[in-house]
Amino acid sequence: MKQFETPPALTILFGATGDLAKRKLYPSLYRLYRKGHLASGFAVIGTARRPWDNQIFREHVKESVMKSTPLHDQIEEFISHFYYLPHDVSDSESYAELRILANELDQTYSLGGNRLFYLAMAPEFFGTIADHLKADGLTDTEGFGRLVIEKPFGHDLPSAQELNTQIRQSFDEKDIYRIDHYLGKEMVQNIETIRFANALFEPLWNNRYISNIQITSSETLGVEERGGYYETSGALKDMVQNHMLQMVALLAMEPPISLQDEEIRLEKVRAFRSMRPLTPETVNDYFVRGQYGPNEGELLLGYRQELNVDAESNTETYVAGKIMFDNFRWAGVPFYIRTGKRMPMKSTKIVVQFKDIPMNLYYRPDDQELEPNLLVIHIQPEEGITLHLNAKRAGHQLHTTPVKLSYANSGIDIMNTPEAYEKLIHDAMRGDSTNFTHWDEVSLSWSFVDVISKAWREQKAPFPNYAANTKGPQAADALLERDGFFWWPLNMLDVDAYN
Ligand code: NAD
Repeated sequence: MKQFETPPALTILFGATGDLAKRKLYPSLYRLYRKGHLASGFAVIGTARRPWDNQIFREHVKESVMKSTPLHDQIEEFISHFYYLPHDVSDSESYAELRILANELDQTYSLGGNRLFYLAMAPEFFGTIADHLKADGLTDTEGFGRLVIEKPFGHDLPSAQELNTQIRQSFDEKDIYRIDHYLGKEMVQNIETIRFANALFEPLWNNRYISNIQITSSETLGVEERGGYYETSGALKDMVQNHMLQMVALLAMEPPISLQDEEIRLEKVRAFRSMRPLTPETVNDYFVRGQYGPNEGELLLGYRQELNVDAESNTETYVAGKIMFDNFRWAGVPFYIRTGKRMPMKSTKIVVQFKDIPMNLYYRPDDQELEPNLLVIHIQPEEGITLHLNAKRAGHQLHTTPVKLSYANSGIDIMNTPEAYEKLIHDAMRGDSTNFTHWDEVSLSWSFVDVISKAWREQKAPFPNYAANTKGPQAADALLERDGFFWWPLNMLDVDAYN
């Protein structure tokens, strides 16, 4: 069993005045505190450029907590653990001050020198901060020193390698916690449990019984005010390289021999290694891209009209792809992925489609074909599992009707259902790296994605090729039609859509 309580520790948060800290990190810390999951010895130093003091910082933390949770008892006690230092990330003097305060808090709260350095900052600062932490003595303590890093980890394999080499000079791989917040989501973590805790699924989880797997992550929003960042990223780097490929690996990996972080990582890495690599010539057979144009009726702008976006932009806001695994378990089974902005609904779902039965004895009343069995894993916003089966329709004739067995995590209790960041912070404090991405996974996923992004950079796409608030480019449908499949419509997959 994994240890549940956190040891005493000081969290040093870089980017303490930023959006991520405010929306996610402070509310998550508060929930951990309120549930008694933070050791009584805990303290947080927030750093950023603004010349705030402890008082202003504590009010800021309090406000962010009050906005996100209905229960605020213990809030005063909670914020008394927060300290603030104005900081310039490239200036050694800032680190000297930080070190003095960290050492003081170490004594005050008996923290045993345990430190979590959380970099909620733009990625160009990751390397510099890691260098300074070591050079200026912040990592020089008796306890653990862990580095928690936000995405993106590089923008291609060479830049990721460079960043990795730099931070590895100050931190061992075992102390680096690369965040992929999808791995903190309840139903993403449930993929392993569904697979490995049910006699029903694992025997069928292979190319003899599964015809294809579809993973969709769609958003209704456009790029909003993040046009500048998105222009350098696009859907491929923003979603596929990390979140989508992580879900693919969890679905495709072999059963680990235990739930230890190293064992799971080993199997995920083997899954990444068995993905069929693409070449510049095959990219367009396996992957398609899209960019949303305006939707006049609903007054939605096209991507090229958004703030800080090039009027001729070649950046994709939609990607669909087919991933093949060249191994015994999955040979011949396509894993289809798609992700896009300005889609008709916000939804992340996994659909496992089972093969048709060898011979059909039944008909549906309207002479439609029998539906295949589907296992649907609802990741967000709904959380749950649905199993699509065929059953006898009540009446005298032997007609079938599709039925669904559903489990919905719907009674979401804000205090008791942990949010992704809450779980990830808790894991990092406990030293459990299962739900973080190891360098081997990052490098393999970049090698896969780099071939696609290079091919797409070199060929200008006929953008825009789907209107805002529609389901994406035609080519994404054709990708499956060529194999005799189609995307399961998301609205049909809702927990209650038929019956
Ligand atoms: P932000 O721009 O809101 O905040 C950046 C923070 O860095 C601010 O506190 C700012 O004061 C500080 N900062 C900037 N330059 C500095 C300098 N030279 N010295 C000291 N401090 C400096 O950014 P954010 O949205 O909070 O994102 C932070 C990180 O988290 C990024 O890597 C981002 O990709 C990642 N991320 C954010 C979200 C989100 O929802 N906001 C989601 C996933 C990942």
